[in-house]
Amino acid sequence: MTIINSTEIDAVEKSIVESRLNGKEDGNLDNTLRPRSFAEYIGQDKIKKNLDILIRAAKKRKEPIEHILLYGPAGLGKTTLANIIAKEMGVNIRTTSGPAIERVGDFGSILTNLQDGDVLFIDEIHRLNKVIEEVLYPAMEDFKLDIIIGKGPSARTLQLDLPKFTLIGATTKLGSLSNPLRNRFGATHRLDFYSQGEIKKILGRSAKILGVEVDDTGMEKIASCSRFTPRVANRLLKRVRDFSQIKNHKSIDSAVAQEALEMIDVDHIGLEPTDRHLLITVIEKFGGGPVGLNTLAAAISEEIKTIEDVYEPYLMQIGFLARTSRGRVATENAYEHLGIKYSNNQDKPLHQLFH
Ligand code: ADP
Repeated sequence: MTIINSTEIDAVEKSIVESRLNGKEDGNLDNTLRPRSFAEYIGQDKIKKNLDILIRAAKKRKEPIEHILLYGPAGLGKTTLANIIAKEMGVNIRTTSGPAIERVGDFGSILTNLQDGDVLFIDEIHRLNKVIEEVLYPAMEDFKLDIIIGKGPSARTLQLDLPKFTLIGATTKLGSLSNPLRNRFGATHRLDFYSQGEIKKILGRSAKILGVEVDDTGMEKIASCSRFTPRVANRLLKRVRDFSQIKNHKSIDSAVAQEALEMIDVDHIGLEPTDRHLLITVIEKFGGGPVGLNTLAAAISEEIKTIEDVYEPYLMQIGFLARTSRGRVATENAYEHLGIKYSNNQDKPLHQLFH
């Protein structure tokens, strides 16, 4: 391993900390690398095929496409798909998110400003407040907006016609969506984690766009740490590029990638310090679990939402963490990965589990 001096480490570390803390940089990276067409969008073949048929049929009928719900863990390409759908339909897309829509008036103005055929993309749609959801039902079903004017006995309801838009909703938590809302979508698609091969292809495309030279072994190394998630793959590629630039490497191979990943504390299966902290906390503070999400979040000082959206899906996917009715449990695989001797909790009496 080559030794690098502390100023170099500082520079790389500063860029990592900044990118972790400030989602903006990742947002910009997302936009730069976002595929613009189905042809550029790698993987998720079944969904692409279904959407392609949907779009072609709608175009033939000269009608907007039906409302679509996309769900799956963060960074798998839901926003990207929504943008591609709008582009293929040749319509505008208006993007917002569940928590961003606070008042009925604001939502009304978004809806009335759409044009026939436009796509309205609502990210994190499970976080829409109930009042807005009520407004959304008639808008989705009949393209009507009910407005209440005045208060008390003199209040009147006014109904406005809305353009025939398509709603595309994205969520990481399908279970948190109310049934009435779920039922109003014509099509629901689940995005899956990507294969190692697909992540390699995505990295190849991103490397070209960013002008980074990475050989096959380098690509393999970064892909294996990418949590089967395109956004993570792109972020790691950028970190490894920063590192290789500082070290004056012309091309990134497995050794360079390895060194860079070690420096940013990403292990060979893509676990970051917070993943390990989470697992160690479950194991050491809560005897391996079960531990409730609220308690766990407080113990590691992370937001519940971040644990649910960012850390848990991958830890569950690789079988390190299990969700039971009594809380989260670290599995034998997690103990093994962390080099901790496994002890089976299932035989413990209940009162000991909650110490
Ligand atoms: P989500 O909305 O599910 O959180 P995004 O659509 O924002 O995820 O995707 C994150 C980034 O990952 C995108 O900007 C894009 O660069 C990359 N990406 C996602 N899916 C793909 C894909 N299928 N092919 C290539 N790149 C992808």
